[in-house]
Amino acid sequence: MARYSGPVCKLCRREGMKLFLKGFKCYTAKCIYERRSFAPGVHGKRRTKLSPYGEQLREKQKLRRMYGILEKQFRIMFHKASRQKGITGENLLRLLELRLDNIVFRAGFAPARAASRMFVTHGHVTVNGKKVNIPSYQLRVSDVIEIKNNEKSRKLAQEALKMTESRLVPEWLKTDKENFKVQILDVPSREQMDIPINEQLIVELYSK
Ligand code: SF4
Repeated sequence: MARYSGPVCKLCRREGMKLFLKGFKCYTAKCIYERRSFAPGVHGKRRTKLSPYGEQLREKQKLRRMYGILEKQFRIMFHKASRQKGITGENLLRLLELRLDNIVFRAGFAPARAASRMFVTHGHVTVNGKKVNIPSYQLRVSDVIEIKNNEKSRKLAQEALKMTESRLVPEWLKTDKENFKVQILDVPSREQMDIPINEQLIVELYSK
């Protein structure tokens, strides 16, 4: 599956917010956005008022970049969300949150979503006892995700756990860090999904 492989700190600067794409560095003074919180490029410091379309576009780009998803796949997810019952914007966020790579990241077994994606792709994770190496794999309530019981996998997860120990795990997940497991307790509500995005703008953008 294709993925973005360019400079990621530029994306935070473009979106005008920290997207936490680099893991541990994002929480330190080395974060580029802390030092240069303006858009990249020669005109980056210019203040420009966004049109309604521009606002919708930026909101979509923020969310897409936060989860490291390319446009085509993101659009497919949106269509899937729009076919589900309930509010489309919330459905979209839920689909993103319930991706396997996101859960591994949320549980603290990887420092960033990009690292989590690689961790899954390299076969370090099982779902309900079976190896799954697809980062976009959609999880369901009561699924149990476990880091494979071998030295290499657990060592990587242990290192990540040390880096992420100050990060809060969402209440809809039950983690057992000693046994390298996490279980989905419930489908998250909008309030439980800590995503600083106005998803309605994305719905408006794609509904044109
Ligand atoms: Fe964004 Fe992290 Fe880079 Fe800071 S260090 S600019 S939060 S990716």
